[in-house]
Amino acid sequence: MTVSGALDWARGLGVDRLDAQLLLCAVLARPRSWLMAHDTDALPPEVIARFTPLVQRRASGEPLAYVLGEKEFFGLSLSVSPEVLVPRPDTETLVEWALSLIPSTAAAAFRVLDLGTGSGAIALALQHERPGAQVCAVDASPTALAVAQANALRLHLPVRFTLGSWFEPVAGERFDLIVSNPPYIAEGDPHLPALRFEPISALTAGPDGLNDLRQIIATAPAHLVPGGWLLLEHGYDQHEAVQALLRQHGFTEVSTHRDLGGQPRCTGGRLGGVANLPQ
Ligand code: GLN
Repeated sequence: MTVSGALDWARGLGVDRLDAQLLLCAVLARPRSWLMAHDTDALPPEVIARFTPLVQRRASGEPLAYVLGEKEFFGLSLSVSPEVLVPRPDTETLVEWALSLIPSTAAAAFRVLDLGTGSGAIALALQHERPGAQVCAVDASPTALAVAQANALRLHLPVRFTLGSWFEPVAGERFDLIVSNPPYIAEGDPHLPALRFEPISALTAGPDGLNDLRQIIATAPAHLVPGGWLLLEHGYDQHEAVQALLRQHGFTEVSTHRDLGGQPRCTGGRLGGVANLPQ
């Protein structure tokens, strides 16, 4: 079978051409430019034997990132497994907002916390862009944390990882900036079947999807310095609820940023002085 024959076969199973090319590139350890130039080359049987199950996994609906074992996020190549949510380009909106708040000369005195880090995407992107900042990342799943830690090791990024539920492992600590992409989909949401390969614990949060956002917003003031920021990713229809929750808990300068598709996707605010008394 030739390169183009293999790609046509994958298309016949419903796998789009770019995904099929990327899978074949992974098997061949060649760039896409090589594929284009070798369209009529015959592929050795062992290549076909390795390509076939990857195409079948993709055809069954498994995200390309799991089949490849990696996903690019904010210019970093991250290893991903089904233990972690696949990093989404929409989350880069949260990273960009966070970067606008971390001085580029940030010394270790500037402390950042990423709650529910998953693959480590947000924490690692921030640490990569602001090498001087002190970034800490929390996740309640030991297997997710292992994925994040392996990514940090490979990328030589000194993020501190700690295991536990939300603020539990950072009791008594305060940060200048807290970021999180928590689960925010409502249980029973019709979109969930399309996300069936990803960890449900990273996706759903109660009947309205706001359970974890509520808990994070209520607890964050005890973990922020006066004037510190909390930035949260949320569902396309949750920005008003998240804005109201932030105001209720003493946050000011509350605003919402849109994602690449134009949906309100991240809401954040700054902690006013009075709400920040030790609790
Ligand atoms: N943005 C993801 C989706 O809807 C969900 C991510 C999350 O729950 N934090 O596909």
